[in-house]
Amino acid sequence: MPQQAVTPLVDSFQRRISYLRLSVTDRCDLRCTYCMPERMQFLPRKEVLSLEELYKLSLGFIARGVTKIRITGGEPLVRRDIGDLFTALGRKLGPKGHGGLEEMTLTTNATQLAGHADALARAGVKRVNISLDTLDRARFEQLSRRNALPKVLEGIAAAKEAGLKVKINTVALKGVNEDELPDLIAWAHGEGFELTLIEVMPLGEVDEDRVDHFLPLSQVREQLEKRWTLIPSSHASGGPARYDQIEETGGRLGMITPLTNNFCAGCNRIRVTATGQLYPCLGGGERVDLRAALRSDQPEANLEAALIEAMTIKPERHHFDISKRGADPAQPRHMSMTGG
Ligand code: SAM
Ligand code: SF4
Repeated sequence: MPQQAVTPLVDSFQRRISYLRLSVTDRCDLRCTYCMPERMQFLPRKEVLSLEELYKLSLGFIARGVTKIRITGGEPLVRRDIGDLFTALGRKLGPKGHGGLEEMTLTTNATQLAGHADALARAGVKRVNISLDTLDRARFEQLSRRNALPKVLEGIAAAKEAGLKVKINTVALKGVNEDELPDLIAWAHGEGFELTLIEVMPLGEVDEDRVDHFLPLSQVREQLEKRWTLIPSSHASGGPARYDQIEETGGRLGMITPLTNNFCAGCNRIRVTATGQLYPCLGGGERVDLRAALRSDQPEANLEAALIEAMTIKPERHHFDISKRGADPAQPRHMSMTGG
């Protein structure tokens, strides 16, 4: 494939933006307690970008040097027409350095993955991030307010069977799954999956106080080191995780510590919500309305202007603070809006 000339997106701190996280729906079939309330108010459908708009937007980003797109949500696989977006974007995939899209991936809770895994692999998806916080059925139901663990495990098995590389993402929660983290890691490594632990972030109102469940990963690490030998690894995924190799399991463990360890200096990403709002920072309120640009009478020119604006307003770092009990969330929007 011939090399294409692209003008890259570079923000005012000279960070090159090459990674788009695109939320395709705010809806979800689970209600994870740290993510959203039971009675989550979802958006009217007309506010959400159409499949054509999502595709057009993605092409606009690819033309500006985005090489990696992660489809997220909400739960991306609850959107009925989502397979068509993967197929269409998959046709844009090319080898590293060809000047276009190099990687297309998704983050999913896996409840519906069994029905999609083969088609995703055929479309060109190579890796999936699957969120799983427990392997205990009752605990899963408590945490996600839905009795869906068997379907999730079926989805994970289907992904493996389809040849997709699976990465498990686990939110570490004090008093909830803290005691199970070593078992989860051992299970994932036994299956040949990498696992990344994440600290809970103060995003959006939920029915509980997250400070009750905040578990610093430094503490988890101390516990894990009593059982295993953790060898710091230079592996980099292009994301904010730091990695260790666990000698005894032979698997890789990632840790994302947004609250205890600032990861902003190397940030290469932006996020777009299902309504086309571009948030240059997960932890900031800055945003640019790409839907207005897309639906205007000069979509190309206005989209270009919006992207330039996004680069000027991307903040140097986030300002999360989970330490205040009962405090308002750092950002009023839920993670299900901006995606993971
Ligand atoms: N529904 C899909 C899933 O769960 O994988 C994709 C969207 S979900 C918002 C993406 C990731 O965000 C999940 O791994 C979830 O555990 C994580 N997440 C949601 N709310 C969070 C919060 N407040 N703090 C940290 N991680 C959160
Ligand atoms: Fe749904 Fe993912 Fe949020 Fe859980 S974390 S409620 S699966 S969007």
